[in-house]
Amino acid sequence: MKMSRLLNETLREAPSATEVAGHQLLLRAGFVRQVAAGVFSYLHLGQRTLQKIEAIMRQEMDALGGQEIKMPLVHPAALWQASGRWYEIDAELGRLVDRNGRSLTLALSHEETLADLARQEIHSYRQLPQLAYHIQTKWRDDPRPRAGLVRSREFTMLDSYSLDADEAGLDGQYQAHYDAYFRIFARCGLPVLAVQADVGIMGGTLAHEFMYLTPIGEDTLLLCDGCGYRANRQVATFHKPESQQGTQTVQFVAELVVGEEKRERVVTAVLSQNFQINETKLGHVLNAQRLRPTAEQATDLWLVDDGLTGWSGQVDKVADIAAAQEGDTCTNCGQPLRTARAVEVANIFKLGTRYSGTMGATFVNAQDEARPIVMGSYGIGVTRLLACLAEHHRDEAGLVWPVRVAPYPVHLLALRGGEETAESLYQQLLQAGVDVLYDDRDERPGVKFNDAGLIGLPLRLTVSQRSLVMGGVEVQVRAGGETAVAPVATLVTYVTSWLASAR
Ligand SMILES: [Zn+2]
Repeated sequence: MKMSRLLNETLREAPSATEVAGHQLLLRAGFVRQVAAGVFSYLHLGQRTLQKIEAIMRQEMDALGGQEIKMPLVHPAALWQASGRWYEIDAELGRLVDRNGRSLTLALSHEETLADLARQEIHSYRQLPQLAYHIQTKWRDDPRPRAGLVRSREFTMLDSYSLDADEAGLDGQYQAHYDAYFRIFARCGLPVLAVQADVGIMGGTLAHEFMYLTPIGEDTLLLCDGCGYRANRQVATFHKPESQQGTQTVQFVAELVVGEEKRERVVTAVLSQNFQINETKLGHVLNAQRLRPTAEQATDLWLVDDGLTGWSGQVDKVADIAAAQEGDTCTNCGQPLRTARAVEVANIFKLGTRYSGTMGATFVNAQDEARPIVMGSYGIGVTRLLACLAEHHRDEAGLVWPVRVAPYPVHLLALRGGEETAESLYQQLLQAGVDVLYDDRDERPGVKFNDAGLIGLPLRLTVSQRSLVMGGVEVQVRAGGETAVAPVATLVTYVTSWLASAR
């Protein structure tokens, strides 16, 4: 690709106010442009990197025995009404009405469409197990989109859905995804760790999140160096000391959804004054869709933390409702827990019969009995992964792409006196199957070097009168900065062998 032909230019400064360095670089280097809050266009370089990431994902999903399909972005509301999520999820779900007055939703995920497919296509245990995946757009109307692609409203996901006859089958597919996700992130060049997680709006029985540790993350993790315990703060447990000083009460209105009806209950939570309340745990205990703080209302339910001793007031329910904090004691091994900030880049859920049960996706087993299909769902945020890669692979000059996900592996710069040689090398590299970004623009050397640093392709080739006098082409590795001069006659071999070893 010739840079003179690119639709966009690089920018000296990021056009929008964002404090996230990786996102600033994606904007400045011309990988993405913002269209609306939390909505982006992917320009040529950004789209190329997405394609590289998606190719790795397809290979790993195919290796699991997955079959690629594509489900739609727009769903009939009836499917979401059948699963109940039409009522359970509030303004985050995109809703629209077509010209005939029929309600539709924009895909927030695809459990309903897959369960609908399964109830039409799967009849017998002989058709199980199944694994289907797609790479598709989602819409989630986040009230606070931020940090660019880290928390956008429109985003791309790789999501897959497993169908099994029993829990043992689900266990196998869950573990296979767990392992495959580590391979995908390793191949893309992003360090992640897996933590126990909240099942959230997907429902189900067990979930893990894959986390990239970074100060820009919105999730807080509790980590134990003693035994390896790792959990999202939303679900993290900790050992509560026997003697606790003082109590505090916190009052909430819990919004419950029962079928299509919404009900409210006033809940007073009681816990040690040294603890913070964990609203995710509280929500699960109450089976509430939402909690909002209130004060001085008549209490319907007194909920007391299980670590509290010496509470002499009313008790309707006892449960763990306290949030683990830095320095709290690990339940498993007694070592202190530490906290870290992270971005969630993927999650996997054991859905069980959460969707097949409510939507009637059943099969007939070997004993001729109808059973609900046992489902799992698994997802990686493709565009969020792009954002995390930019955050992780950068320096003062710009982005520093790993070879496997770089939009182009090679950046060829033609400077004064080197134009003819550069043009010839460009053609030779293309013929050798090397993808090249060729800076053929009529710009000063400083501009070209700055842009090359900003865009951050792995191997920079500079051809100038000076390099030719020195014996050929100046070769610089973006990560590390080593330079060498390679003869023009053997340059293509030099580049192809470097790329082969760098992959
Ligand atoms: Zn521990």
